[in-house]
Amino acid sequence: MKHLLSIEDLSYEEALSILDTAHEMARVSDGPVKKLPTLRGRTIVNLFLEDSTRTRISFEAAAKRLSADVINFAAKGSSVSKGESLKDTAQTLQAMGTDAVIIRHSASGSAHWLAHSPWMNGSVINAGDGTHEHPTQALLDAFTIRKHLCGGAGDLGGMNVGIVGDVLHSRVARSNVLLLSKLGANVVLIAPPTLLPVGVESWPATVSYDFNREIPKLDALMMLRVQQERMNDYFFPTSREYAQYFGLNRDRLTLLKQNSIIMHPGPMNRGLEITAECADSARSVIVEQVKNGVSVRMAVLYLLLAGSSEIASAVNAEVNA
Ligand code: ASP
Repeated sequence: MKHLLSIEDLSYEEALSILDTAHEMARVSDGPVKKLPTLRGRTIVNLFLEDSTRTRISFEAAAKRLSADVINFAAKGSSVSKGESLKDTAQTLQAMGTDAVIIRHSASGSAHWLAHSPWMNGSVINAGDGTHEHPTQALLDAFTIRKHLCGGAGDLGGMNVGIVGDVLHSRVARSNVLLLSKLGANVVLIAPPTLLPVGVESWPATVSYDFNREIPKLDALMMLRVQQERMNDYFFPTSREYAQYFGLNRDRLTLLKQNSIIMHPGPMNRGLEITAECADSARSVIVEQVKNGVSVRMAVLYLLLAGSSEIASAVNAEVNA
């Protein structure tokens, strides 16, 4: 594997190998010295041309924990804000001897374009391209579900996962549907018809418009952010009505099974798709998702750049040193 561009490209075995490697990486993050020497001397560029908090700092922390040199590059403050093209940016990064580029961009397909451009020799990791995919978010979500509900090993066979809300604009939803179904989970998309993409019937998921009817069946409930910045039309009458039919609130929380978990990729619109009470409840694993993101991204960087899956012995040597 040279690049991580979409979940679609990953085999079942590759997906599981990333989750298993992330499990080992979590031991490093939980240890006293949160660092492995594995990527010493490698240069990784964080090319974030669209806003991000969690994903950007998570990749930075992951690269640093593997001892790589990290260059952070954002649109604001760079020549991209002067209109420089992705091609010229790519040539500049290549000239600096970059081993991997982590790219976030508002255009769907930008990561694929960069990976296959003649100006890029290194690995490319998609950190979110438009409304297309966000593969590392799906991997960290699968890791979190596996850890809480499947004993931290194997696949997600038989798990029932509900993904609720603005599926139309969500790269997180698309990547999750592809990955969770690949790993054996049953996925149901719960949304108003206006927030479902054309062709959703061909996705490996079922669709429901009735949130209350689905909740009691779910093992994991994943709420999506209403992506107002991508909306150039009216998709629901009022925020109040959206929250009433598709928001997670105290009444709906009581319908959830005893051990089910609540997830959200962040950033949250508290009071719209999820109330503060639910976001901060004991069932919520939202903050833990952020923590798991670092381990998963360490695993991805390790597998792409160090090219080996013999991580357990390296971690043992460090943790026991
Ligand atoms: N942070 C996620 C993303 O970049 C989810 C969101 O923005 O709603 O896609």
